[in-house]
Amino acid sequence: MDKIREKNGVQDLKNVENNSINLNLHRPTEIKKYLDQYVIGQDKAKRAVAVAVYNHYKRILAKDESDDDIMIDKSNILIIGPTGTGKTLIAETLAKFLSVPFAIADATSLTEAGYVGDDVENILVRLLQIANYDIYQAQTGIVYIDEIDKVGRKSSSPSITRDVSGEGVQQALLKILEGTIAQIPPKGGRKHPEQSLIPIDTKNILFICGGSFDGLAEIIGQRVNSAEIGFTKTLTKSSKEDELFKEVHPEDLIKYGFIPELVGRLPVVSAIDHLDEAALMRVLIEPKNSLLKQYKKLFKMEGIELEFRKEALKEVISLAMERKSGARGLRSVLENAMLDVMFHLPEYSEDRVSKITITKEFIIRGKKPFIRRRRRSA
Ligand code: ADP
Repeated sequence: MDKIREKNGVQDLKNVENNSINLNLHRPTEIKKYLDQYVIGQDKAKRAVAVAVYNHYKRILAKDESDDDIMIDKSNILIIGPTGTGKTLIAETLAKFLSVPFAIADATSLTEAGYVGDDVENILVRLLQIANYDIYQAQTGIVYIDEIDKVGRKSSSPSITRDVSGEGVQQALLKILEGTIAQIPPKGGRKHPEQSLIPIDTKNILFICGGSFDGLAEIIGQRVNSAEIGFTKTLTKSSKEDELFKEVHPEDLIKYGFIPELVGRLPVVSAIDHLDEAALMRVLIEPKNSLLKQYKKLFKMEGIELEFRKEALKEVISLAMERKSGARGLRSVLENAMLDVMFHLPEYSEDRVSKITITKEFIIRGKKPFIRRRRRSA
């Protein structure tokens, strides 16, 4: 391994497929440390992803360097957990750290070839576009497929009967997840006979799939003995679901409606947790580009200091919790509340305002924030 890893833990992987692409091999601890700056909590998922990504890029290198016949399997990742809790954020942050092209696809828009909707190959079109049509870059990129649970089962009822309508899409996804040479139309859309197609090899593309998997907790619950995972009466519905998700087995996913082959191609399954009040408070404050830091910067650009009272933040969080969309609710609540102040920001700035303090009453009732002005200079 020393050959791959230099002292600082980073080394260029050159000549992947004999082409001039450089990848850096980062240690799992480094990857996790970077993720920690942006993603609050979700420790287990971040660790699992860090290891999978390390192995993935190590595997790409091993192809060039190894002299035995051991082939390392690709480890695509499945992240399960409620909406707005960091699944996309983890994938996105990873790609940023690794400087590889990153595309997001929504599984709900995918249909079997020949039907109305997106062909599965269009996922790769997006990746290629993001890689500025550099095929070799695209071939080592990361694709995040959101709402993968929706191709498992079309109905949202927690019935365990399998809906086969998503199966064609699953078969198509299976092919690109396991590694194939996909022929893609460069501009996307449907393939036309007269159009020249670009071959994209997917074997070194890392696929991260995510979904909220409504109803999966019940399926897992039927299998595991709840006493064994330490359920007590005090556990909320959310934390009970978090605990059950941690116990997920491939058989549960198959029962949910996934074909076994696809489950087999997602060997790393990681559960992420609901974000409680304390976690949402951290989301507001701590990430490198947290919402509060962004607002403060916008105000600072007009020469105004922005302060949020703790009570105001608590109110933002409780309003966001009501929306049941995880941390996503924070942005909409804040944007709504701040609109009026943002609207008048340039005038405040001209009017010698030096500091604006956001109070609880401002968030609840839209009362005016505290405003402090600079003295008029003599
Ligand atoms: P999903 O789990 O549905 O993919 P996202 O990752 O897209 O949710 O989260 C939506 C937004 O909420 C992110 O862009 C980010 O601003 C915020 N967010 C969600 N989870 C976290 C988290 N664990 N840490 C920091 N921010 C988060």
